[in-house]
Amino acid sequence: MAIQTRNPATGEILKTFEPHSDAEVDLRIAKSVVAHNELRLWSLEKRATHMRKVAQILRDEAEVLGEVATLEMGKTLTAAIAEVNKCALGTEYYADTAAEHLADDIVKTDAQKSYRKYLPLGPVLAVMPWNYPIWQVMRFAAPALMAGNTGLLKHASNVPQCALYIEDIFTRAGFPDGAFQTLLIGGARVERILRDDRIMAATLTGSEPAGASVAAICGSEIKPTVLELGGSDAFMVMPSADIDKAVSVGTKARTQNNGQSCIAAKRFIVHADIYDDFKARLKSSFEALVVGDPMDATTDIGPLVNAQSRDEVVGKVERALKDGAIRVCGADAMDGPGYFFTPGIIENIPETSSIYREEIFAPVALLFKARDIDHALEIANDSPFGLGGAIFTHDKSEQDVAIRDLQAGATFVNAMTSSNPHLPFGGIKRSGYGRELAAEGIRAFCNVKTVYIA
Ligand code: NDP
Repeated sequence: MAIQTRNPATGEILKTFEPHSDAEVDLRIAKSVVAHNELRLWSLEKRATHMRKVAQILRDEAEVLGEVATLEMGKTLTAAIAEVNKCALGTEYYADTAAEHLADDIVKTDAQKSYRKYLPLGPVLAVMPWNYPIWQVMRFAAPALMAGNTGLLKHASNVPQCALYIEDIFTRAGFPDGAFQTLLIGGARVERILRDDRIMAATLTGSEPAGASVAAICGSEIKPTVLELGGSDAFMVMPSADIDKAVSVGTKARTQNNGQSCIAAKRFIVHADIYDDFKARLKSSFEALVVGDPMDATTDIGPLVNAQSRDEVVGKVERALKDGAIRVCGADAMDGPGYFFTPGIIENIPETSSIYREEIFAPVALLFKARDIDHALEIANDSPFGLGGAIFTHDKSEQDVAIRDLQAGATFVNAMTSSNPHLPFGGIKRSGYGRELAAEGIRAFCNVKTVYIA
């Protein structure tokens, strides 16, 4: 795949980059090792000072960097600026909390002193997707560097300018030369890097095939991995819910980021007593959304990322309709340049239709009718994925059962699933393993060393 910026709103190629040669990649890995040997000896206070500079640069340049993201992957400029500002919060979170998360953890034994010590591993390869082109990277980079690791970023091939911008931020913030670098390479060249003895671990956010490939290679090299893969999150609505709130939050949860979010609400599972009412209100809400130029502040939904992604979604919807599903509204490609797609709703989906268990990376809501909470959870869990999920209900026992029984890495009650630096983030089943953010995120790439002093 060529490394280039193509504006999804027009289809125009804006910039093409020469991929790094193997020699250049090797040089960057060597620099990463040297930088690690410097960074690991920095105090946590010093790392935090420079991480706060990263946050400051992100804040100061949120509009400029936001525009780069919008041009490369099509999210609205408003959303892109919000994403950059969220990254500033995430980096500050780790500047503030790394000392607490990585403090020696004294354990009483027969030793004079014994404890857990959190030490960095070294250079870590991060394979990242385009959908949150800044946040996904910062979510890895901030904890990794605060722990004393160095990062090598293989970003998605359609967001090279975001990747280079992020590298430049870490350089300007005064981290050691090579502490965070971008590798301009396609996915096919990841294996050679993973097999390099100098690479100590890997993290991947992306599709199942990419995750499986990286995990298999790392498995054969005995290297740890964190995988954040796809999701098909349930959004359950029960009769006691505030329906207006469920509709407005549900609309946002399905359509934000142009519908291309791993933790988007993808399957709306609604109690039979309120199904028709909810469906009618969700339809009105979807039809009121403005699809258009992502640079325009009045736009709710920009284009999908590329023609292939749009054609894939159109194909999935068409197959579902053939299988007996019913289109409530939208869910179709729009004419003209760019990869625009109308947000839509599909219902009456047969269990045998492939769309029933697939992830849809576009603003299409699948609607299901449930008899009661147990039936809702049965539908919710009938998925290969287990990333997150939400339930709207004021019934305490329904809340408790959803927290206990939903097969997912998160249950949100009366709120949409979202990521928050203070809370761990990650999935189960085919959504991946390991956790990012919070204490888990910074310890993920640490050697938890046992220290025993007799
Ligand atoms: P891909 O998996 O195609 O791409 C993600 C990254 O992996 C890119 O950098 C890509 O490089 C690279 N890659 C692709 N194939 C391989 C391979 N065989 N070996 C090594 N690297 C590879 O996914 P998309 O970018 O299309 O993202 C969409 C998918 O990612 C969705 O399924 C979505 O749910 C999931 N996702 C999950 C998230 C989570 O947090 N759980 C967050 C965001 C997305 P290149 O671009 O060069 O092909």
